[in-house]
Amino acid sequence: MQLISVTGGKGGVGKSTVSILLANKLVREGKKVVLCDLDVECPNDHLLLGVSLGDVGRFVYAQFPKLNRKKCAKCGLCVSKCPSHAVFQPSTARDAGQKKSADYPVFMPELCSSCGLCWHICPQGAIEIEKKKTGEVFFNKLRTPNSKLEAADLWLITGRSVGVLEESGPVVTAAREFAQDFARQKDADYLLMDTAVGMHCGVIRALLDVDYAYVVTEPTPLGAHDLALILRLLKKLGVSARIVLNQSNLGRRDWVDKIARDFGVKIDWEIPFSQDLVEAYSQGRLGRVDLFNNHD
Ligand code: SF4
Ligand code: SF4
Repeated sequence: MQLISVTGGKGGVGKSTVSILLANKLVREGKKVVLCDLDVECPNDHLLLGVSLGDVGRFVYAQFPKLNRKKCAKCGLCVSKCPSHAVFQPSTARDAGQKKSADYPVFMPELCSSCGLCWHICPQGAIEIEKKKTGEVFFNKLRTPNSKLEAADLWLITGRSVGVLEESGPVVTAAREFAQDFARQKDADYLLMDTAVGMHCGVIRALLDVDYAYVVTEPTPLGAHDLALILRLLKKLGVSARIVLNQSNLGRRDWVDKIARDFGVKIDWEIPFSQDLVEAYSQGRLGRVDLFNNHD
């Protein structure tokens, strides 16, 4: 099974579109494909395919600190040591002139990375561990437009984080692990992973140990700038890269050509602007588009 990531430093360059078009192409070639949406903070592949998220395959949980006030001595150690600045300690003084003293610490789960440092270092053992749901992983079997192919040739796995969390990386890892196990069980030929934008921890988790990564970009100054950043990251990770130039007939492709030359990476695939493609995208019909033949 080949593991391929589809990524792109800049948002809005068509990463999800390319992931789906690539899945379509491979399925039409008779390959078994699992497409995994790892943009867990706003997964949208299912919307572009016009399908539901499907069934829940796994819930993702994380551990969070919960204060036991009866044990807390208000020493402030958890506040000063938290690497995410997720704990603060208000003062008991409510009015001017009142003598200030430290109140109980307050934990902010939105900033917490679940590192566990606070409950390990608390000298009073006053921090208990609370398990909370942080994500879900869905799976859906998709019907392909080609009637010669069985509907079982394409699956969509979607990771989705729930709540407002600073760190969505563990949800990405859980969704990726689920997708890899799922793809192995189905004897899939390809696992395509559609990453989030940028170069944060959640993107890196989707790029590690893949056979290669498609980097989607556009012929604009920002597209070229972010292409250079992500190519640098892929080089550091030891991941081989191929460039997909979206809307290739618009803007200034010489910017992208220069970056590609500088990094010695080939522009593997050019997708010219197409009104049909835009309409299919906005109407949730991308799963029916065959760019290498005629559009639906
Ligand atoms: S380290 Fe423990 S005892 Fe000190 S303020 Fe935090 S919870 Fe309370
Ligand atoms: S688990 Fe880690 S990040 Fe969360 S509050 Fe404790 S020390 Fe801070």
